[in-house]
Amino acid sequence: MTASTWLLDDVLVVPMDGPADAPLGAVRRASLRVRGDRIDAIGDLAPGPGERVVAGAGRVALPGFVQGHVHATQTLFRGLADDLPLLDWLRHRIWPLEHAHDAASTRASARLTFAELLAGGTTTVQTMESVRHAEVVCEEALAAGLGAVIGNCLMDLPDGGVPPGLPTTAAAAIATTDALRRAFHGRGGRLAIAVAPRFVLSCSDELAHAAAGFARQHGLRIHTHAGEHPAEVAAVRARFGRDYVEVLHAQGLLGARTSLAHCVHTTPAERDLLVATGTAVLHCPSTNLKLGSGIAPIAAYDALGLRLALGADGAPCNNRLSMLTELRLAALLQNLAAGPGAQPAARMLWHATRGGARALGLDDEVGRLAPGLRADLVLLDLDDAFLPVGVDGAAALAGAIVYAAGERHLHAVVSGGEVAVRDGELLHCDRAALRAEAAAALPAVLRRAGLAR
Ligand SMILES: [Zn+2]
Repeated sequence: MTASTWLLDDVLVVPMDGPADAPLGAVRRASLRVRGDRIDAIGDLAPGPGERVVAGAGRVALPGFVQGHVHATQTLFRGLADDLPLLDWLRHRIWPLEHAHDAASTRASARLTFAELLAGGTTTVQTMESVRHAEVVCEEALAAGLGAVIGNCLMDLPDGGVPPGLPTTAAAAIATTDALRRAFHGRGGRLAIAVAPRFVLSCSDELAHAAAGFARQHGLRIHTHAGEHPAEVAAVRARFGRDYVEVLHAQGLLGARTSLAHCVHTTPAERDLLVATGTAVLHCPSTNLKLGSGIAPIAAYDALGLRLALGADGAPCNNRLSMLTELRLAALLQNLAAGPGAQPAARMLWHATRGGARALGLDDEVGRLAPGLRADLVLLDLDDAFLPVGVDGAAALAGAIVYAAGERHLHAVVSGGEVAVRDGELLHCDRAALRAEAAAALPAVLRRAGLAR
């Protein structure tokens, strides 16, 4: 049986396949044919007999966004942990709340997450979940139809204000990841399981080494946090007598399959280690500002050749899961940190798409618009009085998208060839029902966490 096709007709295609100084590639008006879950062809294409045609005139087609760092399990906790620095945010809110999750509340949180991601044009995401119930998140990622790299977070140290019962033993933590691997890795062609130590302070040396070995044995990605907040960095130095990335390296956790969220605070020696091991960095600008952590030196990392992705991190530390928000903020912050032009809008857009795909090892699958790749598309409608008029050239187009556009300009989102958003509305889920499900699940979680109001 031949997979069905449809044609996106006469759209401005932004392939995101260009070199570093012109990352958008050859932007051109063309038609794009989708066959099943893949891009079949891009060019001057006539519709086949009976082929469905979607009008693209006046719109811009980008690759679906790739987010490198999100916590689906935390979305239910949006607005419950505002205005706290990282370690207090974890100890007083996030760990007790994660510990109080059951499968039903985790499911409500995951559904909210994937709906919000798709609504904002994110079609591939890497997430770190809580110690328990990550299988529910995997089920919901499959149901949502986006690409996902998911890991249960590994933590086995009971100190540092962690609620008793949240950490497990090292063996149990790895066994949970192994069960996820057996059940979900490769399922649907778009779901991968990652090994996800929470952060250096929550893992014993035994667990960290076991995690590195397990990831190597099964060819899995490693996803963890590093160098986020000055107080955390100081605590790592006090415990280990060396810096964060050096500890991760000694534990065997760095490498081409590893990505580290944040890296706001790194020494030159740590940066050398990131380069030498080919480790990727996941930049979460909203979170870094909201928790008062600092500005990650993304322009410097890019100049070193590190692979970079953007991410919204958790809803309680953002409080959005919007790539367009992260894109704008990331670009503005680097103009401040490194000077205007050090990371131009076009380069940031590259990090949000192809660069993100490279950071997650998915460059052959997503992040560009090219025949054979997965049909993940964002369709923007930039014909708006409040956006730049007379946009001429790739740099101006990238500037319009990164600095001026918002989610109201997202006309459609296609994930794996399926239209998930049309006219700005999610087609396959009911936002009111999602909100009602979340509202029903939250009170019991707050009670169990001792945070009931
Ligand atoms: Zn995080």
